[in-house]
Amino acid sequence: MTDYFEVHARDGAARLGELRLATPRQTPSLVDDILEDGGSRWASDRALPEGSEDVLTVLPHRGFPGGTAEEVQQSFAVDYPDVSYPSVAVVSSDHVEAHGTDGYAISDVQSIVGHGGAFVDAIVRIRETIPADTALLLSGVATPRNVALLAYAGVDCVDAARAVAKGTQGKYLTTESEYFLEDLEELPCSCPACQGPRESFTPADCAEHNRNALAAELAVVRQRIRDGRLRDYLEGQARHNQWLTAAMRELDAQWGYLEERTPILREADLDAATEDTLRRVEIQRFADRVTSRYRNRFDAPLVLVPCSARKPYSESQSHTQFHRAIRWRAHLVSMTSPIGVVPQELETTYPAQHYDTVVTGRWSQDEQDFVARVLTRYLERNPYPRIIAHVPDEGYRAIVERVEADLDLDVTYTVAPDAHPTDDESLEALSDGLAGEPAYQKREREHHTVRALADYLLGDGAGDDLFPTFQTTSRYPRLQVRDTDAEETQLATMVPQYGTLSFTLEGAKQWVESDAPTKRIEIDGFVPQGSVLAPGVVDADEDIRVGDEVVVEGPRAFAVGRAEMYGSEMVESTRGIACEIRHVEER
Ligand SMILES: [Zn+2]
Repeated sequence: MTDYFEVHARDGAARLGELRLATPRQTPSLVDDILEDGGSRWASDRALPEGSEDVLTVLPHRGFPGGTAEEVQQSFAVDYPDVSYPSVAVVSSDHVEAHGTDGYAISDVQSIVGHGGAFVDAIVRIRETIPADTALLLSGVATPRNVALLAYAGVDCVDAARAVAKGTQGKYLTTESEYFLEDLEELPCSCPACQGPRESFTPADCAEHNRNALAAELAVVRQRIRDGRLRDYLEGQARHNQWLTAAMRELDAQWGYLEERTPILREADLDAATEDTLRRVEIQRFADRVTSRYRNRFDAPLVLVPCSARKPYSESQSHTQFHRAIRWRAHLVSMTSPIGVVPQELETTYPAQHYDTVVTGRWSQDEQDFVARVLTRYLERNPYPRIIAHVPDEGYRAIVERVEADLDLDVTYTVAPDAHPTDDESLEALSDGLAGEPAYQKREREHHTVRALADYLLGDGAGDDLFPTFQTTSRYPRLQVRDTDAEETQLATMVPQYGTLSFTLEGAKQWVESDAPTKRIEIDGFVPQGSVLAPGVVDADEDIRVGDEVVVEGPRAFAVGRAEMYGSEMVESTRGIACEIRHVEER
């Protein structure tokens, strides 16, 4: 049972996996050299092929590919025998069943590749049916140009059949195109096959080059997954073919599939370089949580300001100047593309301090629409006694004016036309605009920050449910949350790299007892040390995402840690680390 494939890291639906053969192989990868055909016309009385641990054996199935459509359908419904060697079952995209094999190959792959919608529908349907810790194999379709998208969608293994066939036909493949050999004045590659003189480059060399180019692109893909940056790459890469761009956008529309598989935090920055960035899960999730979970707790006017290139914003020169003018007399919310709006309490929360964007001073219509929509939803949920917009002309002001008209608000603008928000006159106008407003206390700021982080992580109202009373020690952004009555009892710590909270055992107990939504993993009767492996997981909440704080409970232990898999993946998987344990106690 799926003994020979393990997922080590995830980047959205893409995974860095390992085929645990005699010679282990990292995926996504080429597998033609290790694929063994177990026979495509397996009669019911014939013995199973002799399998070995060096190869992936494609298990034969009854009747396929001959017979009527109905017979073919039935042939996919057979139960594959449980074999003791690495195996792959063949499934059709419209008839998927889990068989207990290590991998699954799609039989009708030619009919789905090349059409964004059909491809995405099929991959999502198959991936959601087969267990998470099984490899998905596509044969006869991979090219250097499309393989990043295949991996991004959740494909683990491919072969070089198509790339080699194209080469033999005299078609030279690169990551951005497909050239007729005779049209190429020079070879845009320096792989071994492309070393010789241009005149003596044969179709056989071309086939070898195509295979090399595919293998090299797969290495790029693996590195991108390791770094958590495959999406940034794909937004550029997919531009080289219409169906790839279509497939990427179709996948963005499969919110449930991608969101479940996307971690809630990453070390890597995300590149916001195309209009497709606005649709990625990390951006949409932040906007969604800010407008449905976060709640402003300050009884003060709102000041809207532009974002800064430096992150977190409060460490930038411009925001230092804004803070000096405001002097804690207002609640600061930054407007930014592609994030939307960022309340001051969430300025460190992923991805608010983890994106790099193209600064031109001009906003696209898509960006303006997106930020206006988020600001509208934000203000509908969070009414303020007064609103000051301390924003420049370019893009920002038009958005605020649009939302002002839509919601029938009365906004004060403190930056004159053509002036800059950090001009002396602008800053003076901002300060004057807040004359007479009382300043709030540091303690209030810190409390609101802790509760805002809890809201963002766990749900609407979670901050108040989880921490009805508490005190903070240590300096922002490394706030420590402690019990009101017993300062020695620490409940949680703010993690400034990701703007999240990590709980202590005491904090986790308070969490479980509170009305805040819990993310819980139920384990067998053991005391976990360091990490919990998937086979030890009995049950897990479906809304757990990679990076989430989790409570781990079993007959013998109570623990708190961080999820390394999403909830249903922990339950389905038979290998791999489900979560890392931070604190544990026996019971
Ligand atoms: Zn080459």
